[in-house]
Amino acid sequence: MEQAKRICIIGAGASGICTLKAFAYYKDQLEANGNPNGEIFPEIICYEQMAEPAGIWNYTWRPGTDPTGRILHSVMYSDLYINIPKEAMEFRDYTFEEHIGFNCPSFIARGMCKDYLDAYLEKSGMKPCVQFSTRIEEVNYSKETKIFTVKISDLKIKSIITKEFDYVAVCAGHLVLPFIPEYPGFDTTDIRIIYSRDVRGLDEYRGRRVMVMGSSFSGEDLCCLLLKHGVKKIVLSNRNSKGTSPVSAQNNKWGSDALVTAPGLAKLLGETCHFVDGITHDVDVIILCTCYKHSYDYLQQDLIVEPVNNHWPLNLYKGVLPLTADN
Ligand SMILES: Cc1cc2nc3c(=O)[nH]c(=O)nc-3n(C[C@H](O)[C@H](O)[C@H](O)COP(=O)(O)OP(=O)(O)OC[C@H]3O[C@@H](n4cnc5c(N)ncnc54)[C@H](O)[C@@H]3O)c2cc1C
Repeated sequence: MEQAKRICIIGAGASGICTLKAFAYYKDQLEANGNPNGEIFPEIICYEQMAEPAGIWNYTWRPGTDPTGRILHSVMYSDLYINIPKEAMEFRDYTFEEHIGFNCPSFIARGMCKDYLDAYLEKSGMKPCVQFSTRIEEVNYSKETKIFTVKISDLKIKSIITKEFDYVAVCAGHLVLPFIPEYPGFDTTDIRIIYSRDVRGLDEYRGRRVMVMGSSFSGEDLCCLLLKHGVKKIVLSNRNSKGTSPVSAQNNKWGSDALVTAPGLAKLLGETCHFVDGITHDVDVIILCTCYKHSYDYLQQDLIVEPVNNHWPLNLYKGVLPLTADN
């Protein structure tokens, strides 16, 4: 008799929840059609290392590492608001309006996203498939048997088991391991240099001079928040800009004299940032918003899709299914 396929899903963030929901939909379809071909619904286990669903939308006060000593998965600061309208983020079959009960503004606070994802998982009926506080340590694949062997650690009772699966869905997120650039003077300065993932509350920057390095999503968002929280001065450095610092308030899209833009950093001497256009700014803190490195160190080397640092990795059909793998 045919066995149910065994499916392992790594992670219960937005992607893992979508994957679980797709299986719920498949199950509904089988039941609605009376399952004329006798298809066997697979056995699904989703392993989530955190104690809760929603991935990076889980906020924590913790700096650096999680309670098990690994790099913290959560990267949110306390005042984070979504950076695309909620209407572009919501699931087709469950709107934010339906979830919240009224139509609130398009840009909502991070806590509402967490709440929404929790509710969507609950509604899908697939939450019992999620084993929380379990981490995937290793995934190996045999081309001969076409089976994945997965090493799973139970973080609560501190034990490791090995299980076999026919398919593995990697929904483990890719914005975790920061890319930290090195510049002359970083090693010798006394000022604070932190990465955006380590920012929590913003009040500590009131009255301070901050250099924000990197002007993509996190950089721009943090500038807005720092301005709201009464920062004294922001130097927003973008290594791709030609360098016309300081930008005057008149042609400054930020509409604040407290913010000047700068090109890439050349070096740091004490508290003085020297930019490639020769202009200097003294600052108290540098916040690095310099993106993330993709890392899937638990996957057998030949299962990793290259290039690893790309929003659209090659060799993935529709950005999801590996073209080179047979499972
Ligand atoms: C600061 C910031 C702000 C953002 N703002 C927005 C926004 O406003 N709008 C938007 O659409 N997107 C935003 N994003 C993008 C965000 O990454 C996606 O919206 C989405 O939440 C990603 O979901 P995911 O499931 O792919 O990854 P994650 O949310 O990272 O979830 C992955 C899950 O996998 C688990 N996991 C990882 N490794 C293992 C393992 N080995 N074993 C077991 N479990 C594991 C993690 O614990 C986590 O729960 C933002 C990203 C960042 C970093």
